[in-house]
Amino acid sequence: MLQIDQLKKSFDGYQAIANANLSVPPGEVVAVIGPNGAGKSTLFNLITGHLTADSGSIRFQDTDITKCTPYQICHCGIGRSFQLINIFSSLTVLENIQTAVLARHRLERKLFKPAKRLLREETLEVLASFGLVRFKDQLCSSLSYGDQKVLEIAIALGSKPKLLLLDEPTAGMSPDETQKIVHLIKRLSQDEGLTILLTEHDTDLVFDVAQKIMVLHQGQTIAQGLPEDIRNDKSVQNAYLGE
Ligand code: ADP
Ligand code: MG
Repeated sequence: MLQIDQLKKSFDGYQAIANANLSVPPGEVVAVIGPNGAGKSTLFNLITGHLTADSGSIRFQDTDITKCTPYQICHCGIGRSFQLINIFSSLTVLENIQTAVLARHRLERKLFKPAKRLLREETLEVLASFGLVRFKDQLCSSLSYGDQKVLEIAIALGSKPKLLLLDEPTAGMSPDETQKIVHLIKRLSQDEGLTILLTEHDTDLVFDVAQKIMVLHQGQTIAQGLPEDIRNDKSVQNAYLGE
């Protein structure tokens, strides 16, 4: 579904992504792991067009998206959440999800009012599937940190992506909140057939949910494959898991 070859990105001469390679098969949960500063968020920003690669290629379902904008990539079918929460905190929970649903329908601003009524139903469906209906009229800023992270994933799904990118979805969460996210990832993957690419530094969680793992070290892909092969890979143990 997603194919990344020999991707490179520098910031003022510092190679944050030195040589990233990744293949994401459809329907799988794939995890990118690596120490802090390895380049995981930079890789996600390159995939979603928030950054542009210096060289290399990113293909999504046989379309070259290397030079596409975030808007075009969203319309191709890639949704994402951010490592730091990125929601409209002055809007209600319902309005936040509605923005994503509206964006998917590519509605003009002048159509906003009538469309809002028409799309309310679709928005409520997304809210219901994430257990957020009871919060629908609350301002996002009033939600707990864990619920804000769930809301961010719900917003990403409002655009009905085929591939969902989650950058550290459980960072800063309590064990209970983390379990909620684990169930959510499994449900989206198993019940809805969504392809998911995530970064996560909780390796127990990664080995629990991922069917494939890619290890990024100093901006380079040093291994990718089945979780059991990654666990036993000597170069991975030296670079990361053994730390
Ligand atoms: P990770 O998500 O794996 O912790 P990042 O992708 O955030 O790593 O960062 C990789 C490296 O690139 C770090 O050394 C970081 O400081 C650097 N970096 C990331 N974004 C920028 C930027 N916009 N400008 C300069 N350096 C950056
Ligand atoms: Mg990061």
